[in-house]
Amino acid sequence: PELVNQIAAGEVIERPASVVKELVENSLDAGARRIDIDIEAGGSRLIRIRDDGGGIDAEDLALAVSAHATSKIASFEDLERVGTLGFRGEALPSIASVSRFALTSRTAAADSAFRIEVDGGKPHVQRPAQHGIGTSVEVRDLFYNLPARRKFLRAERTEFNHIDDLVKSIALARPGVEFRLGHNGKVVRLFKPSATEDEAARRVSEVLGEEFLRNSLRVGHDGAGMVLSGWVGLPTASRSQADQQYFHVNGRLVRDRVVAHAVRQAYADVLYHGRHPAFVLFLELDPQGVDVNVHPAKSEVRFRESRLVHDFLYRSLHEALAEARA
Ligand code: ADP
Ligand code: MG
Repeated sequence: PELVNQIAAGEVIERPASVVKELVENSLDAGARRIDIDIEAGGSRLIRIRDDGGGIDAEDLALAVSAHATSKIASFEDLERVGTLGFRGEALPSIASVSRFALTSRTAAADSAFRIEVDGGKPHVQRPAQHGIGTSVEVRDLFYNLPARRKFLRAERTEFNHIDDLVKSIALARPGVEFRLGHNGKVVRLFKPSATEDEAARRVSEVLGEEFLRNSLRVGHDGAGMVLSGWVGLPTASRSQADQQYFHVNGRLVRDRVVAHAVRQAYADVLYHGRHPAFVLFLELDPQGVDVNVHPAKSEVRFRESRLVHDFLYRSLHEALAEARA
C-alpha cells in the first residue's frame, strides 16, 4: 500500500501548494469557520493547518490516513454529484506517504484529542493529546523519501507564492471563513469574515485590493439553470492582470479552456481585444452538469454541455461589459 500511496501522491501532490489545497479543502468540508495555515521554508520544511471544524473520532483516525477507506463518496452514483470538495479518499494517505505526517483531532463529543503519526506510510500510535475541537495536520519534510521529487521543488519564495495564490483563491470563494497564512513565523495574510451585508465584496477588496473593486463591474446573471456572479475588471492600463483571474465552478477554482475562451471573447468583442483583465467569477450549476473527476488535482473540469456554458458566460459578460462601455 505504501507504493500505491506514493504513486497516488505523484498524481495529487505536485508541490507544497497541492498539500495545502487538499488540507484546506478537508477543513472546509469539515465545516471550519477558521483556518490557520503555517508554512516554513516554502512548505518544504513544514505545512501545518489547523481548523475548528467537526474533527475526527478517535476510532476513525487510522482510517482517515488509509487509502480509499474514507472517501466521502459512498456509492458510484455519488461520483455524479459531488457536493463536498474531497471525493477520493486518497489525499491524506498520499500526503502521509511522502512526508513526516501527524494529525491531531478532537470532536465535540470527545473529552480529549487524539494524535496519529505516520512516517513514510506506517501509522503510529494514537495517543491522547491537547487540542481544541477541530483538526490540525502537520506535514514535515515533504518528499523526504523521494529525493528526485524533492529536488524538483523550486525556490522557497516561488513555492510560497503558489501557496499564497491558492489561499487567496479559496478565501475569495469562502468569504464567511477566516483565513490566516503565516510564513517562517510571520503573518502574511489575515482575511477576516465581515459582518457587513456584502461580505463577498469586502473579501474581494481584502484579497485583491480596493483598486480592483473600483475598476470592476459587478456581474449577476442567471439563465439556462446557471448562475454567474462576481466581478469583471475593466482593463484601464495595458498592464496584464492575468495573475488576478479567478474562476470558480460550484466553489472550486477551475482552469478551463471553455471558460477562458468565453471570457476572452466577451472582452474582445467590446473592444478590449488582447487585454488580460482581472476577474473573480463564480459559476453555479447543477453538479450533474459538470464532471469534476477529470484529474485528482481537480483544477480541471468537464462540462456536460460545454456549448451551453460557453454561451451563457459569453452572453452574461458581453452584456455587462457592453453596458459599461456605452
Ligand atoms: P476525502 O476528502 O476525499 O474524503 P481525504 O484523504 O482528504 O479524503 O480525507 C480522509 C477523511 O479524513 C475525510 O473523508 C474526513 O472524514 C477526514 N478528514 C480529513 N481532514 C479532516 C478535517 N480537517 N476535519 C475533519 N475530518 C477530516
Ligand atoms: Mg480531501
